[in-house]
Amino acid sequence: DATQASSNHQVSRRLNNLGAASVLFYRQPIEMVTAQGCWMTAADGSRYLDFYNNVPSVGHCHPKVIEAVTEQMSRLNTNTRYLVAVVDDYLDALKAKLPDALANVVMTCSGSEANDLAMRIARKVSGGTGFIVTEAAYHGNTALVTEVSPSAFRHASLPDHVVAIPAPSALVYGNDIATGFANAVRAAVKTLAQRGHRPAALLVDSIFSSDGVFAQPAGFLQAAVDTIHQAGGLYIADEVQPGFGRLGDAFWGFDYHGVQPDLVTMGKPMGNGFPMAAMASRPEYLAAFCEDTGYFNTFGGNPVAAAAGLAVLKVLEQQGLQHNARDTGYWLQQQLNQLAAEHHRITDVRGSGLFIGVDLGAEDDPTRPDPVYTVQIINRMRDAGVLIGAAGKHAATLKVRPPLCLTRNEAQQFVDALSAALTTD
Ligand code: PMP
Repeated sequence: DATQASSNHQVSRRLNNLGAASVLFYRQPIEMVTAQGCWMTAADGSRYLDFYNNVPSVGHCHPKVIEAVTEQMSRLNTNTRYLVAVVDDYLDALKAKLPDALANVVMTCSGSEANDLAMRIARKVSGGTGFIVTEAAYHGNTALVTEVSPSAFRHASLPDHVVAIPAPSALVYGNDIATGFANAVRAAVKTLAQRGHRPAALLVDSIFSSDGVFAQPAGFLQAAVDTIHQAGGLYIADEVQPGFGRLGDAFWGFDYHGVQPDLVTMGKPMGNGFPMAAMASRPEYLAAFCEDTGYFNTFGGNPVAAAAGLAVLKVLEQQGLQHNARDTGYWLQQQLNQLAAEHHRITDVRGSGLFIGVDLGAEDDPTRPDPVYTVQIINRMRDAGVLIGAAGKHAATLKVRPPLCLTRNEAQQFVDALSAALTTD
């Protein structure tokens, strides 16, 4: 039909333009035209409940963010070499959310740039060259950061200076995840030493998002952080996914674990869709790094980004979105656990706030992760008007990540759609 033909035309245009770098969701990709709150509307008029989007975190097209960006863009936007009050207003507000020790914040345009800078600082400060990450981690797309992103590799193996350890899953480490994960860091330090590298940093996403979402028990990270410190490396908290209130119980993933990071990187939800990211550091670390090359970013920390970021922080506060993430997220996890009791192919539900992972297993042996079934569920849910993605080493974990303004009613719609998808044969 006409809609199908138009959709095929759009797909081939995209493939012509982006070639092999094209990344489209679904075999039959959706052309989106508008969005509001937790909902997206496609070109054919169908509406989708968005459960796979950590960017418009305070809700799609939030009027307060649009207003702030429009107002600042109409007045002034420029490179970052001038004094513009909104930039420091934003940095003051952001720093109020961070540990006092991390008193310098460098703004960038992407999480990749933030991690790239953090890695360079870690090398300078520690004198080491090695990095320890998790098996299915993703930290970004620059040359340096791709090397520590095992999930980005299709064929090649990790370079010599990078050791990947299993994600903090009870299936791997048993009941004492804290000790098991710390021991894995210790073993990775040894492996690096055998290859002639001292560790620069342990770099982990505090919610282990692309590894499949591993949050519990809160606090398990401390032992691993102590271990990397004893070995002379830094702990970089990648907050690109967990940051800005999504975990409900804490504003940041490292706070959820009660640990002190040496460097923090953030991005994604920071500007609710306006591209912006940042790296926070102790002043002396940044100073040491800047002795060598300094750091300049044309667009990072521009006035419009600052206005967007400030609006996001205000909306989070005014609408109590972190509390909503906690309450609605807790309720949603309960519903999903109930669903797990009825459906043997759901083998685990875990997470914090509105960041939840749901493991799916094979029909005959549910302990075996089932990526094919996971794709089936994802497609059935799309047909039912719900957007959801997969994560994890086996790509058999549903990654539940809706905007933080999610209502009970919308959460219920998600549960109903998942229940129906699991019941279809
Ligand atoms: N860190 C993590 C944990 C991420 O999930 C991502 C993006 N998926 C990045 C870093 C990179 O951020 P960006 O795409 O903004 O460069």
